[in-house]
Amino acid sequence: MGQERTNLAVIHNSAADREPVPAQEQQLELLSLLQTTLELSQLLPLFSRQIHAWIPHDGFRYRNPDLSLEVQGGERARHSCSYRLTLEEQDLGELILMRRRRFSEQELQSFEVLLCYLLYPLRNALLYYRALRSAYTDPLTGLYNRTALTDAFQREWKLSQRQQTPLSLLVLDIDHFKHINDTHGHAAGDAALVKIAKCLRQTVRGSDMLFRYGGEEFVVLLSNTASDGAELLAQRLLYRIAAMDCSDIAPGLRITTSIGVATLNHPEETPEQMLKRADEALYRAKRQGRNRVAVA
Ligand code: GH3
Ligand code: MG
Ligand code: MG
Repeated sequence: MGQERTNLAVIHNSAADREPVPAQEQQLELLSLLQTTLELSQLLPLFSRQIHAWIPHDGFRYRNPDLSLEVQGGERARHSCSYRLTLEEQDLGELILMRRRRFSEQELQSFEVLLCYLLYPLRNALLYYRALRSAYTDPLTGLYNRTALTDAFQREWKLSQRQQTPLSLLVLDIDHFKHINDTHGHAAGDAALVKIAKCLRQTVRGSDMLFRYGGEEFVVLLSNTASDGAELLAQRLLYRIAAMDCSDIAPGLRITTSIGVATLNHPEETPEQMLKRADEALYRAKRQGRNRVAVA
């Protein structure tokens, strides 16, 4: 039961039983509240809470397909109204409100007015999101970079300590990559890195995090995963990468990897110590002949 609206515009209020838009003082309060955060995951729930008095709703959904971004809050419901948000011809995504009963015309008009207060804070939050994303992303593969690993590892480590859940990590290194570069050229090496990143994405679960750790090294961070699950995934990755068809990069090219696996030793081990153990296991796999998994 979607009540579609496109192109936000301020509509004058119709006569109503109750004030359909916030009084001036409340408008200022709303605006200053929305300026308190640049995090989309905080801004949108905050906006949803603040507008409740004028347009009660059960849930919201924000979508920005350009950034592959989606934020949800509350509950899904049968009726919805959706707005494409634009500011100075810039697409800011779509915001959908949901609830069990239909939205009245007056409520929709109130919503349109209230949305105007969201536009600038939302534009700023999207700029911040883009900046953070590029600081955390490896441009060649699109995977998270080493900086992102440091932050994510700390976060997952704390979570794992607090909740007493297992945490595992794989360090994956391409075998004889220097030889691939020397034989087929640097561009072929780059294409191989991109292909491996794609294979990693297709093989891991949504909750697993992928990082390009160094030149031809990747890390997979596995929250809530014990040693046996991590080793199983490492074997699957090893197999899938070795089975990749690389003839589009260079005729006859085959790529293999070696993988070190470590699982956090509770409660005393630090992320650095765990990473070091995974690295040592990786070098053991290399010494034992490559194209294999070694568990720390
Ligand atoms: P091993 O099996 O022991 O891991 O041998 P290897 O040749 O893979 O290891 P080594 O550390 O000797 O060489 C890594 C190579 O990775 C050297 C470097 O030129 C290459 N490399 C690092 N980053 C990139 C990159 O972004 N693109 C390309 N094409 N090559 C890279
Ligand atoms: Mg290496
Ligand atoms: Mg290597």
